[in-house]
Amino acid sequence: MLITKTGCAGRFGTLLVSVEIPPTPHLKEEFCRYKKEEKCLVCISRCPAAALSAEGLDKEKCFRLLQENSRVFPGPNQTACGKCATGPCALKSC
Ligand code: SF4
Ligand code: SF4
Repeated sequence: MLITKTGCAGRFGTLLVSVEIPPTPHLKEEFCRYKKEEKCLVCISRCPAAALSAEGLDKEKCFRLLQENSRVFPGPNQTACGKCATGPCALKSC
């Protein structure tokens, strides 16, 4: 999960253009409440696969749930269930 100034509930894409764009400076600000030593960990409590912990993400557990979701809901491949990105950091009001 990447938390930006405007939150984490977004999708990133790629756009190829032929112009020079100066790099955006790396932000020093921390946007995760837990990492700012506030109470939170909502993302962990919302993960149905128990793939998240305060120490990090177990990608295999996450992937197994996504595979199960794909079996139940056939269609284009699922790349995330996204429930971990619905906490207070989802929107810029964090
Ligand atoms: S829900 Fe967001 S702010 Fe809260 S602990 Fe998880 S990543 Fe941090
Ligand atoms: S995408 Fe779903 S299964 Fe994977 S870490 Fe987030 S909440 Fe858990």
